[in-house]
Order: sequence, then C-alpha cells, then structure tokens
Amino acid sequence: MPLQFCHEFDNENISIKHMDVKRVVKLKELIGQLSPDQFRHSFSSREECLEILAHAKWADGYICRNCGNDKYCAGGTPFSRRCTRCKKDESATAHTIFHHCRIDLPLAFEMAYLVCGAPSIPALELSKSLETRHTTCLNFKKRILQCIQSDGNIIRSE
Ligand SMILES: [Zn+2]
Repeated sequence: MPLQFCHEFDNENISIKHMDVKRVVKLKELIGQLSPDQFRHSFSSREECLEILAHAKWADGYICRNCGNDKYCAGGTPFSRRCTRCKKDESATAHTIFHHCRIDLPLAFEMAYLVCGAPSIPALELSKSLETRHTTCLNFKKRILQCIQSDGNIIRSE
C-alpha cells in the first residue's frame, strides 16, 4: 500500500488576504431610525460624526485596503487608522459618501437624515433650512439619493 499523504498544507491558500473586503453600512440603519432629538444628540459635532463613522465602517474589523494587513494604530487625523505594515492612513470618511464633502460633517449628516426621511425634499428647502448654498445641497442630495436608491450602503466600492 502506498503511503497516504496528508494534505494539511492545502489550508495555506485560505490565508490569502482579501483587500477588497465588502463592508456594508446601511445609511438607514445608521441614521434612519433615529428621532430628530436622538439624531441631533448623536451627530452634533464633527468628532461625533467621525467616531460613529469609524465605529460603523470598521465594525467587522480593520483591513488595510493597501496591503491587507489587519493591524493598525491611530492615524494622523481623529478616528483615522494607520496600517502598522505599510503606514497608510485611512480616515473615517474615506470610501464613504461623506468623503470630500463640501460641507461640514454634522451638516452633511443632517442633510442625509432629512433626505432619508423624505427623499423628495426639494434641494431649495434643504438650502433654506440648513443655510447652505443651493448647488451644494443639490449635489450632496444627489449623492445621498444614489446611495439610498442603490443598495443603501454608505461605503463606496471604488
Ligand atoms: Zn497596509
């Protein structure tokens, strides 16, 4: 009888890193179920918004998008994370619909909250109640609607 080899090393293939791990943070689950009071209480400052975003996007753990490492330390900006291997920073807003937003984060969240509750709200109304330029409201509202009307995930896969 030939010797039977145990193929225990086949398991090594499993350790291949998945850098494009699909993270899902649904906008409606993040803010949609809050009452106006709860919302204002939780998202009143930039720091709070960043903290909630960071908590939500890394809820299943951190994986560096650059090299796949899962170890991190604090990055250069509040609530960002820096890969301990390639030293790349990822901010809390990176790869979310709130990245490179032309308005302050609490205001952006408030707009998202309002659009979530009433998707047909006119940009002009947002502009008046949030005292923000009409064009800015139009553009960001478009981004929120795209999110809601696709899979509702605030994490962008680009
Ligand atoms: Zn890395």
